[in-house]
Amino acid sequence: MFYKSFLLKYGEIGVKGKNRDMFEEALISQIRLALKKVDGKFTVRREAGRVFVETDGDYDYDGTVNALKKVFGVVGICPVMEVPDRSVEAVKSAIVDFVHETYQFPVIRTRRAELDKPAETEKKADVTTFKVRARRPDKHYPVSSMEMNAILGEEILNSFTNLEVDVHEPDITIYVELREQVYIYSKIIPGPGGMPIGTNGKSMLLLSGGIDSPVAGWMIAKRGVRIDATYFHAPPYTSERAKQKVIDLAKIVSEYSGPISLHIVNFTDIQLAIYEKCPHDELTIIMRRYMMRIAETIAKESDCQALITGESIGQVASQTVPSLVCTDEVCTVPVFRPLIGFDKQDIIDISLKIGTYDTSILPYEDCCTIFVAKHPVTRPKAEAIRRSEEKLQGVIDDLVQTALDTAETILVG
Ligand code: ATP
Ligand code: MG
Repeated sequence: MFYKSFLLKYGEIGVKGKNRDMFEEALISQIRLALKKVDGKFTVRREAGRVFVETDGDYDYDGTVNALKKVFGVVGICPVMEVPDRSVEAVKSAIVDFVHETYQFPVIRTRRAELDKPAETEKKADVTTFKVRARRPDKHYPVSSMEMNAILGEEILNSFTNLEVDVHEPDITIYVELREQVYIYSKIIPGPGGMPIGTNGKSMLLLSGGIDSPVAGWMIAKRGVRIDATYFHAPPYTSERAKQKVIDLAKIVSEYSGPISLHIVNFTDIQLAIYEKCPHDELTIIMRRYMMRIAETIAKESDCQALITGESIGQVASQTVPSLVCTDEVCTVPVFRPLIGFDKQDIIDISLKIGTYDTSILPYEDCCTIFVAKHPVTRPKAEAIRRSEEKLQGVIDDLVQTALDTAETILVG
């Protein structure tokens, strides 16, 4: 592989001082973690506002790029050519190799000045425009950035017939960083952005097999939050396949978020008790309140400071504002609902982008759909719901305790 290293750009303009150190350290540790799964030997180091990934020997280029595309905090991935000899002559020769290798343009051996001038009628269709943009973070470098732009631009013009300069809207921009050694790159592969995992605490995702909750978890993880997940299943009403689907979704999210402890809670007896004792139009809301209570207990045991759900206002009866308020009433930690104002299509677009969609749409039953009423309440009154829940007294505490005691935890990713 021509490229022996990558220069990574990262963002978040507001991150300064001590926080910047923490941001960069977390970023580097997440990059190292992501690259563990890729064939090759990698060194990750930081240098004045940049992170470099250097390879040693053969490595899997596509695998490396794909892994880096999943590291939150990375804004751009630039495969770079390193030029250890900083002399102007060495950089001139390197930039010609770089353009040739990257774009497969043939290098002309005779200098353009010595060639016949191209005929006026020559068609311009296959001309590619470029500009060179040199930066000189090392101010001791003897030539200024502007001079380097001119010198290297001329060298390229002299070496290729189909390239012309356009400083305003070039097809290609060739970046040259003049540091202890010189780095040349032109492709900037977009990274996911966001903040590195580990910089913003930890939260518990209520993960179902649907489209929304994996997207919600991904969005909060993208802000640097470590996540764990809780799934409520209801055997035999929900199958092993439905559970496997949730494990698979957690696995996809963990490619971005890092390892997820997935807690699988058996919810059947609690659902049956609610079904038996409470008004059927309130089943969903009461069920959701128990899910939140249990998830919060597990969250606190797992050092999670908040809950995350995939709810969005109005999507279903249990997601009207009064329903959400009524659900929140039982939580003592904040509930993050990153999809709250999203349309379904917006959510689908993200799920396609992050790779959860195809798994989410597999047609396995959801524990909530089995027990849903035909006409669930859309404006639940907390007062009334509390009264209905009193009917569960005497059984519910033991059922909740058993659900917590028998929860299975799988480390995913
Ligand atoms: P999703 O697509 O995420 O399943 P949904 O649109 O089907 O969401 P609901 O079924 O009302 O909506 O669920 C709302 C949220 O509650 C989900 O996004 C998820 O966070 C949580 N949730 C629902 N069912 C479960 C479950 N069985 N286990 C864990 N969390 C759940
Ligand atoms: Mg659902």
